[in-house]
Amino acid sequence: MGSLKLLFFQQHQHSDVFTVLNRLISLYKIFTKKSILAISAHCCNTILLILTIKLAVMNSRRNFLQKMSTLAIALPLLNKYSLAKTHFTHKEKYDGPVLRVAIMGLGSYGTRVAEAMKDCTKAKLVGVISGTPAKIKDWQVKYNIPEKNCYNYENFDAIKNNPDIDAVYIITPNALHHDQAIRVAAAGKHVICEKPMAINAKEGQQMVDACKKANVKLLVGYRMHFEPKTLEVIRMRREGELGKILFFQGLCGFKIGDPTQWRLNKELSGGGSLMDIGIYAINGSRYMVGEEPVWVTAEATKTDAVKFKEGVDETIQFEFGFPSGAVASCLSTYNMNNLDRFFLNAEKGFAEMQPSTGYGPIKGRTNKGELNFPHVTHQTVQMDEMAGIILAGKQPPIPIDGEEAVKDLKIIDAIYLAIKKGKKIDLQL
Ligand code: NAD
Repeated sequence: MGSLKLLFFQQHQHSDVFTVLNRLISLYKIFTKKSILAISAHCCNTILLILTIKLAVMNSRRNFLQKMSTLAIALPLLNKYSLAKTHFTHKEKYDGPVLRVAIMGLGSYGTRVAEAMKDCTKAKLVGVISGTPAKIKDWQVKYNIPEKNCYNYENFDAIKNNPDIDAVYIITPNALHHDQAIRVAAAGKHVICEKPMAINAKEGQQMVDACKKANVKLLVGYRMHFEPKTLEVIRMRREGELGKILFFQGLCGFKIGDPTQWRLNKELSGGGSLMDIGIYAINGSRYMVGEEPVWVTAEATKTDAVKFKEGVDETIQFEFGFPSGAVASCLSTYNMNNLDRFFLNAEKGFAEMQPSTGYGPIKGRTNKGELNFPHVTHQTVQMDEMAGIILAGKQPPIPIDGEEAVKDLKIIDAIYLAIKKGKKIDLQL
């Protein structure tokens, strides 16, 4: 009995060997299990995958050709998959254009982004905008930022005359994003804005319009849109491996501390937990289900009316209906810890992620087993990918532009309206 060796060469990072192998194993289905004699991988810069197939089971020339053509269809999937992974591990050498970014708002998340950007290859922190001179000095030393790239909230419109800054990343309290983004756009710089992009859809749309008018890009810090395990579930859904999607559950929350912080001040936050953490379940339900909701119902509960004042939500449960008939059930809260879970149920399988949207490592499994992708620092990948989008017109796997954010804001508006009216609200996104 003869055998045939099939060789697959994959340009790859070492850490991805096992995930590529897992994928290859799914090709077993093309052949009968018994026909696989051996599978092996050799790894240097290139991974050589060897699949040894018993020729005896290819009992006719027609059978053999059929299986080979199925394999030919399957291989591009392997390539596509592998590409996505090397793409997001970001170890490759790069000598193209670099996006020069100024961060506005040097708070806790701004600091996280600045630290993550140290490992970027396509984006670089070159400027700051802050109302606190001492912080500016500190950042200048830490990140080697020249004096001419430092601004405060009064004078940052002058960034227009600074040819060494391409984009401003707005990482300030939610309610400030709108005016700040419009000023940045008017200064002719690309806008990267944290979530929620604004505090309602009307303000969000004004930001989109202002950036269009100024001919600058508007991108939103949806870091999960580049997270490898999240992307793998989306790939499985898009390629039909999960079958028809039936149900999504998104649970997002944490117990908030200091009652004096801006997150609990409606003037600065625009709302409560829904704006801050519930938005992950809103956005997540859209990318996990792969459809836009057509109706919303919602219910709010408050256990502490002193801490969570009028207009600042503590806990909201909300439900979505999608055109296919799929439904989602989500919880957003500032009053429970250990709440970071996505569950997607479908006719042929499921995906379960917990933690699902934290800084990682994200953990997940599907009906096919554990999702074993290397952890990447979300903000490093996000900033490198945003550089590719802004400078090279690259397409993200899931949109991260202003229009995408306006959809989330329309849903947020509808959730608040559903609570106020106590009834189902129809949506058109
Ligand atoms: P923070 O309070 O730590 O930082 C906010 C910064 O804004 C501070 O440096 C503060 O001095 C500055 N600021 C400017 N004007 C202000 C004003 N009028 N009042 C209060 N502060 C003012 O908050 P943060 O956690 O860094 O959040 C900032 C933004 O980033 C928010 O929109 C938040 O939703 C978003 N965020 C996103 C993620 C994510 O994972 N994508 C994580 C955390 C925060």
